[in-house]
Amino acid sequence: LPIHEAVLGRAAEFGETPALIDGVEGRSLSYAQLDGFHRKVAAGLADAGVRKGDVVALHSPNTILWPVAFYGATRAGATVTTVHPLYTPEEFAQQLRDAGASWIVTVSLLLPVAQAAAELAGGIREIIVCDQAEGHRSLLDMVGADLPAPAVGIDPSEDLAVLPYSSGTTGVPKGVMLTHRSVATNLAQLYPTMPMGPGDRILAVLPFFHAYGLTALLNAPLSHGATVVVLPKFDLEGFLTAVEKHRITGLYVVPPIALALAKHPVVERFDLSSVRYVISAAAPLDGELAAACSARLGGVPVGQGYGMTELSPATHVTPIDRPIPHGSVGKLLAGTEMRIVSLDDPAKDLGPGEEGEVVFRGPQVMKGYLGRPDATTAMIDEDGWLHTGDVGRVDEDGWLFIVDRVKELIKYKGFQVAPAELEAVLIGDPRIADAAVIGVYDADGNEYPKAYVVRAAADLTVEDVQAYVAEHVAPHKKVRAVEFIETVPRAATGKILRRQLRDRDQATNA
Ligand code: ATP
Ligand code: MG
Repeated sequence: LPIHEAVLGRAAEFGETPALIDGVEGRSLSYAQLDGFHRKVAAGLADAGVRKGDVVALHSPNTILWPVAFYGATRAGATVTTVHPLYTPEEFAQQLRDAGASWIVTVSLLLPVAQAAAELAGGIREIIVCDQAEGHRSLLDMVGADLPAPAVGIDPSEDLAVLPYSSGTTGVPKGVMLTHRSVATNLAQLYPTMPMGPGDRILAVLPFFHAYGLTALLNAPLSHGATVVVLPKFDLEGFLTAVEKHRITGLYVVPPIALALAKHPVVERFDLSSVRYVISAAAPLDGELAAACSARLGGVPVGQGYGMTELSPATHVTPIDRPIPHGSVGKLLAGTEMRIVSLDDPAKDLGPGEEGEVVFRGPQVMKGYLGRPDATTAMIDEDGWLHTGDVGRVDEDGWLFIVDRVKELIKYKGFQVAPAELEAVLIGDPRIADAAVIGVYDADGNEYPKAYVVRAAADLTVEDVQAYVAEHVAPHKKVRAVEFIETVPRAATGKILRRQLRDRDQATNA
């Protein structure tokens, strides 16, 4: 099915149930409205000239109109490339060019950025706004007009529904070609692990433009009749206020939010008793931290999901109705194959308990990176296996544990040290608020782990940190350098920007 049908196929059944609520201003859209509005937007976009295969750049923070624009554009036959709302005009222009976009849908507040980006990129036929802006077509006007929805033939296994960009954690963000079929398949695969329905309230605090937010916070809940409470950005108090005020039942978060839920004193001031489960994804979440977060929330399950943009995006989610092994990201979703292969020889399969690269094959694997055949063949082999670049292991019962990214492993005197493991140890110390670990090199070119630490206790010293880590890990994993910082640099998706820390390290040593 095309994605808008896979998601909104049951909208009539859910009728007046709120589909989306603006978590700050309280405005809402019922399922009937969402369904009607996205059809009107499809009609309005077609009337503006949007044709099948056109690329529409959706440039907006999370709002209740974001999904109206998204499903409206896919219904019109367009491919939506989702854009980070905080991009500079240069970054935005780069994505517009790379994606071959010819339309922009933005919000009045971001119009100057969109205009500057369109000018830099060229090739943009029109800038449309969601709300209202002088001289621009608007989605609200489309919703008020009376045009019939276009009948566009979509081939779900060929046509691209969405062209999200990978997070750019390891290099430049790449355009990931996802067909209607791969996104809709992932939705169906997730169904058994996301038992939601009318009455469930999901807090959308992660950005919709990223594959995780798009799937976990829109596609999945909207296909089940749950209510999505939308926040435009994350700040801890605003987030906690929304959970309390809207009686949120399900939280999809990233590790820094789980860390705050576990450790930040302000959490005590809020009534979070409506929350029934928490799922974290996008970066490693340590089992101890998950347990601390769960304890703070009265014992609700705190689990994980795992995936990547290139996998539409999820392959694993922990169930919320039964116990899970400490630190696991879950079991493989139905319909996809997985192997763990040797880091030295990708042809060699590893058995239970052995750590290697995680590889996948199945309908949720992307079509490829747009315009980068070399990057595509570097990631997907001849037999269709996608090599994730992540290190993991599976236990005897099929539970997957993600260790870290292959590229981030620190080689200390021939041993492999995972930054994620050291970070977990560090934040286990109550005197430490947050931490990140990278590999740095000594004068002889030997790599060793260095920790960047955000202090919770003002008198914490470098020696204290080193002694604490040494108590908890084998000698080869000790942190051999420590620097205190104000905050750990992270992307909108919660991922640690280790490249920034490496640059900082080089700058200090230069
Ligand atoms: P880029 O590919 O552009 O460098 P990125 O890999 O961060 O950026 P995404 O597709 O957003 O882009 O992220 C996918 C990656 O996130 C995975 O490959 C994995 O490293 C990490 N990840 C996702 N979920 C988890 C998890 N539960 N535990 C550990 N790592 C995770
Ligand atoms: Mg990646």
